[in-house]
Amino acid sequence: MVTATRLRDDIDEIMPGLIADRRYLHENPELGFQEFNTAKFVSGRLQALGVEDIRTGINKTGVTAMVRGTVDGPGKNRVVLVRADMDALPIHEENDVEYKSRNDGVMHACGHDAHTAILLGLARTLIDRRDQFAGTVKLLFQPSEELFPGGAKGMIEEGALEDPHVDASIALHMAQQRPLGVITIAAGPILAAPDAFKITLQGKGGHAARPQAAIDPIVIGAQIVNALQTVVSRNVDPIESCVVTVAYFNAGAAFNVIPDVASIGGTVRTLTADVQDLAEKRVTDLVQGIADAGGATVEIEYTRGYPATVNDPGMAALIREAATTVVGAENVIAGPPSMGGEDYAYFLLDRPGAMFQVGSKNEERGLIWGHHHPRFDIDEASLAIGLETMTLSVLTYLERGLPE
Ligand SMILES: [Zn+2]
Ligand SMILES: [Zn+2]
Repeated sequence: MVTATRLRDDIDEIMPGLIADRRYLHENPELGFQEFNTAKFVSGRLQALGVEDIRTGINKTGVTAMVRGTVDGPGKNRVVLVRADMDALPIHEENDVEYKSRNDGVMHACGHDAHTAILLGLARTLIDRRDQFAGTVKLLFQPSEELFPGGAKGMIEEGALEDPHVDASIALHMAQQRPLGVITIAAGPILAAPDAFKITLQGKGGHAARPQAAIDPIVIGAQIVNALQTVVSRNVDPIESCVVTVAYFNAGAAFNVIPDVASIGGTVRTLTADVQDLAEKRVTDLVQGIADAGGATVEIEYTRGYPATVNDPGMAALIREAATTVVGAENVIAGPPSMGGEDYAYFLLDRPGAMFQVGSKNEERGLIWGHHHPRFDIDEASLAIGLETMTLSVLTYLERGLPE
């Protein structure tokens, strides 16, 4: 069994390289499905480390590689996949740092640069310990987490969970809302299924002084906006979680004209399939019913986003144990689910696994801006915490498998 002290010393030693990798990635961000340079950087690093079976171009820019332990132990047939996302966001970086984005208008504002650097760090810690563990670790670098339909699903469709057959997976995410030194890991749903809806209400335009001759899509639309609030308050079980947000309502341009059309759109967030089904049905029924009552015709586009991210209890327990070794029990929290979404969820649909979150905020250093903010930046000490927790989790899984 790997000793935590030895591992921590080794990680301290490779930290300058890890930080350099993260900064290189931060300086050279690429949008979803355009991570060509990032993928090249990743496969170059993997090659230099001597990692086996490097495959590139999976779902456009995805990369996978294998590290095989050489011990002939009971876990020798286990395969665990560790996933990192590589994409950046269409945001103009406002940080004044030496590693500021050089790709104007594109920024690593979610921490995926850190996820990628940590997974490269994991390749290193595992390669150095090949003679200390049995089993196989599949490293997976994924394109386009931020942009629906995401890069995960396509990689799975191209066989990322087979050859060899993956038994379980682990992922991490930086958590800028939590202080450095805190790790969040919970069993069950941790992130929501983010669905989207788009409503086009076709009324009948006319003179604002003659409403009796028109079908006013603004009045009908306003009733729809109000009625949608009742999905959460009157239909969903109060013990369950659901968000219905109308995020835009566009109609009309002049004070004396009743417009012809109104368009309304927003998002529905849920943690379970039952609530997701219920919310979709209620949203579409209400919209259709109110449009009918007002005499308007309506087109409803309801798009299901990523599934909810549901952590396996056994894997969550195993990660909690690793995290406790790294940051102490008092700094490992279960944390409530968030209604954000994440396409790592696809990896969890038919294989057990879990995602943990690594606190990266540092108020004293002014590193306080949240994910997707133009001044987002992490405390890089979180890289070591993430890497140590990931390495321990992977090695523990390979040694023991999932707890019953
Ligand atoms: Zn993000
Ligand atoms: Zn993210």
